[in-house]
Amino acid sequence: MLNVDLHTHSDCSDGDLSPESLVLDAARAGVECLALTDHDTVAGLARARKAAQAHGIDFINGIELSVSWRGRTLHIVGLAINPDTPALSTLIDELQKARDERATRLAGKLEKLGVADCLARARALSAPAPPGRPHFARLLAEDGLCSSLSDAFKRHLRPGRAAHVKAQWAELQQTIEAIAAAQGVAVLAHPLSYGMTAAWQDRMLTAFKAAGGQAMEVVCGAYNPQQIRRCAELATRYRLMGSVGSDFHSPAQRWLRLGRPLRLPPQLSPVWQRLHGGPPAGLEGVA
Ligand code: MN
Ligand code: MN
Ligand code: MN
Repeated sequence: MLNVDLHTHSDCSDGDLSPESLVLDAARAGVECLALTDHDTVAGLARARKAAQAHGIDFINGIELSVSWRGRTLHIVGLAINPDTPALSTLIDELQKARDERATRLAGKLEKLGVADCLARARALSAPAPPGRPHFARLLAEDGLCSSLSDAFKRHLRPGRAAHVKAQWAELQQTIEAIAAAQGVAVLAHPLSYGMTAAWQDRMLTAFKAAGGQAMEVVCGAYNPQQIRRCAELATRYRLMGSVGSDFHSPAQRWLRLGRPLRLPPQLSPVWQRLHGGPPAGLEGVA
């Protein structure tokens, strides 16, 4: 069975490892086909690809794009994208601006709560990537305004709390069109992780399919066998190809390691067989 992982992060977004270290760790863990899918950036792809060539891993260009859909945030992974596509670059610029605005507003709120010099400290923590909510959570913990990172989210950062900031991301249609313009495949990420009822999952998948979405993640690093069965059922019903990905961010997440075999249920068609730069012809169908 081919060892495939099509959802990982580096320190070009909110991961802990450089693109080179991520690829090295993946190679050591037995990954044979890897996609780097940093949040709203393609900054790490060239470095990761170079490292993957050195380690004999098949590398797939990826990105995880943030979408606002009916008041919720969804994540759409683009696989086998051409990162130099103007429509994609425009979308990425808009998303980076939205991230920056969110960080500035969030820092303003946290300064009022007593976190001094918040934005500059968050930027220092997150560099080279722009600061995200986990970085602000660390500052809250450092300054004694909460007991842990999860406590920071519970007390201050989640919806309804003083430092919650709602971000406005891109539209679903524009996002899927940008991925298509970049010759990529649009994959709905972690479909069961949006806190939706089954009825909302149906609405989401109907909208995703109507907008031109082609695949969904079925095996995610954190999903149990029952969740994987549920995803497989949805992929079959909506005629979507299946994808597999750990959503690896850091070696500190011990429950979510690189290289664990992520087995796609056999009735689904594997998205990696469609990707250029994917497994060589001889390996197709082996997974
Ligand atoms: Mn992340
Ligand atoms: Mn995600
Ligand atoms: Mn992710």
